[in-house]
Amino acid sequence: MESQKLVEKSSQYLWLPFTQMKDYDENPLIIESGEGVRLRDIDGNEYLDGYSSLWLNVHGHRKEEINIAIKQQLDKIAHSTLLGAANVPSILLAEKLIDLAPNNLKRVFYSDSGATSVEIAIKMAYQYWQNKGRGKKQKFITLQNAYHGDTVGAISVGKVDIFHRVYKSLMFDSLVVPFPDPYHHPESLDPETIRDRALEELENLLKEHHEEIAGMTVESIIQGAGGMNIMPKGYLKGIEKLCRKYEVLLIVDEVATGFGRTGKMFAVEHEGVEPDIMTVAKGITAGYLPIAATLTTEEIYQAFYDDYTSLKTFFHGHSYTGNQLGCAAALANLEIFEKEQLVQQVQMKSKLIETLLEPLSEHPHVGDIRQLGMICGIELVKDKEKKIPFEWSQRIGYWTTIKMRELGMLTRPVGDTIVFMPPLVTSEKELEEMVSIMKAAIEEMTNKAAS
Ligand code: PLP
Repeated sequence: MESQKLVEKSSQYLWLPFTQMKDYDENPLIIESGEGVRLRDIDGNEYLDGYSSLWLNVHGHRKEEINIAIKQQLDKIAHSTLLGAANVPSILLAEKLIDLAPNNLKRVFYSDSGATSVEIAIKMAYQYWQNKGRGKKQKFITLQNAYHGDTVGAISVGKVDIFHRVYKSLMFDSLVVPFPDPYHHPESLDPETIRDRALEELENLLKEHHEEIAGMTVESIIQGAGGMNIMPKGYLKGIEKLCRKYEVLLIVDEVATGFGRTGKMFAVEHEGVEPDIMTVAKGITAGYLPIAATLTTEEIYQAFYDDYTSLKTFFHGHSYTGNQLGCAAALANLEIFEKEQLVQQVQMKSKLIETLLEPLSEHPHVGDIRQLGMICGIELVKDKEKKIPFEWSQRIGYWTTIKMRELGMLTRPVGDTIVFMPPLVTSEKELEEMVSIMKAAIEEMTNKAAS
């Protein structure tokens, strides 16, 4: 079909997620194919995939081994339900995940997106305490700017302002503690002091409320959609200690950070943290098919093990839970991780990225560059000295990514922070190309906005 017709039809029929459709109508983009770290639109224009197709692509597009694994599985069966019956790839994948995950995690519950893996985690934590006869423990603690997905439960344990403004009466209340964020801290204290104060505040809350609290949800080391903010060292470990002390389940969200992104298979490994519940999605299938998982301890699993009549059963499931094609893709993905020693590669590439981004830190409108492995956020500000942001209405983050698109690279902003999160296999040359596009776009758009 002629490309103009497709554009018209996309504007006529589609409703894109998390998108102001006016923006799409003014700047439509329709992807048709991809190869490696490049995407191609219907007019044949190529774009470097600077955010891994929303933070999930690992090995680039059309990785042969994954394509083959999916085709081979297709020749056996595409999907059958996990309700009361298992399937082969889901068993093998569960074993693999347990092998890779922190030692205390022993059980895998599948779903199909990051948000559903979080919904499941909070329902599990909530019901766990009921099943243990401690039903008063019903609430959750979350961190300022936390993001755990867009479903109602996930936004209730998240603390991104817009959700609370728009959907407030749909949500349940969670208790919120500040995220120890050195760059945005009003007193600009050192990270250790900010961390210790944050832990003190958390402990005070727990002292007063622990009898009502089922769990604490936390993104692993780095907050993604809430601003690409990185915790000071030791903070996650401190949370773990407090959760243990006050008998609160620690739910760590590894949806964005899991599967090598931060230079460890899971970001919790940076701090030797063992969550009671851990959620994974995105990179699990290298971004090929929608699979997610919620991993738990044997202790939590056993609290649900009973006959159906006692209501201890976990009442949750989705039609596509444990989908065979997705599990086969995930198994192929994890095999490539081993074969190509991808986690070690990320460690090397993150040093290269740091060096490439370094000159940007001198730019008068780059307030801060935050990086953990191959997750980076570049925050644009109007006044660097005083850390004054651009006006909200200027949408500097958005327009900078539109300029990047014109220059041949796709990514997204988080507010005025540009996300840089390329596929883990991006080569040195491609990383250089991506960073130079980012620099050019930042230069042009911030100069325009500041004048
Ligand atoms: N949790 C975190 C930390 C995320 O970054 C995201 C998505 O970006 C989610 C949960 C939700 O995942 P999904 O978009 O697959 O529902």
